Amino acid sequence: MNKSGERKCFLLMILMPVFILISCPSPTDYEIPVRNVILIIGDGMGEEQVKAAGYYLSGAPGSLSFESFPYRTEMTTHSASSSVTDSAAAATAMATGRKVNNGVLSLELPGSGESLMTLLEIARDEGKSTGLVSTTSMTHATPAAFGAHAASRDFKDSIAEDYLGSSRPNVLFGGGGNGMTVREAEAAGYLVCETLEELSVLDSDAGAYFSGQFGVDHLPYQYDGAGNLPELSDMALRALDILEEDPDGFFLMIEAGRIDHAGHSNDLVRNIFEVLELSDTVEQVLDWADGQEDTLIIVTADHETGGLSVLGGNGAGVLPTVSWSTTGHTGVNVPVYLWGYGAEQLSLTVRDNTDIFSGIAEESRGL
Ligand SMILES: [Zn+2]
Repeated sequence: MNKSGERKCFLLMILMPVFILISCPSPTDYEIPVRNVILIIGDGMGEEQVKAAGYYLSGAPGSLSFESFPYRTEMTTHSASSSVTDSAAAATAMATGRKVNNGVLSLELPGSGESLMTLLEIARDEGKSTGLVSTTSMTHATPAAFGAHAASRDFKDSIAEDYLGSSRPNVLFGGGGNGMTVREAEAAGYLVCETLEELSVLDSDAGAYFSGQFGVDHLPYQYDGAGNLPELSDMALRALDILEEDPDGFFLMIEAGRIDHAGHSNDLVRNIFEVLELSDTVEQVLDWADGQEDTLIIVTADHETGGLSVLGGNGAGVLPTVSWSTTGHTGVNVPVYLWGYGAEQLSLTVRDNTDIFSGIAEESRGL
């Protein structure tokens, strides 16, 4: 071996451990191959909630917008600590691909306690725009698992700080209060709107970050009327207006968060109206996505709430006959409806809520 060959060999020996180190997968080594991802979560929406709303809408099950998606499957929802999950652990499983204890938001618990990279953060790091929309207060468990990291879902101030200072979704539309303030959002560079009218006239060219803080808690139930506050579909459509501007695409999580609350109260009419608003929202999202081959839409749930059983329909516009078995969550499988890019593949691979993450993000081949 001549001098130059020796030098090359020496360099290789020095650099090899570096190559090995670089090639070990870390949480940031993921990429999202599809341009746009819209993940829509009905909190507490099991098969029976969908069936009950279908009976009310048309007199027969199967009539909701997302039930016409070309692919569907179902998935298990247990958490690391319980066969019956809460929203924090379930949303963490979907957002990070990892099972955590009930109440935990995207931290490795049980385990090291380190932050787990979320789909929203992976999308942001790829240059995509990101958004969280919910009918619950903005810092509630489901959106929080995508944009914050906390040992407890009750740490509202810390969740708000993570949104505004760390994950920085371009769109944060949901109920106000609970850690979110207009002053702090504006100080963090967000344009803030507080009513339906302000949302309607929001100039999407006026900035890059938008915070909708509607009311001081969860948004009203659909059945009770929204007053001067937006409905889920209003927020979702405005979010799409803003996010679609990004040539790199976007990640958007939309949550119908109050199906769960009506389930806890065994309140059938409000439960049905929340599911129907979710169905209307999906219909409008589908109109937006029509003809776009680079978009994946997933409609699913984090868990079922109430142990609902539909015993029979009573015609369109009339509440079906049902029974409830609990005022808590249950561990039954939840449905997954799939539309667009990669939907067929996901229908084959999604069996557990962690598979939502691995179905959307894949290990980066660029390294
Ligand atoms: Zn609940």
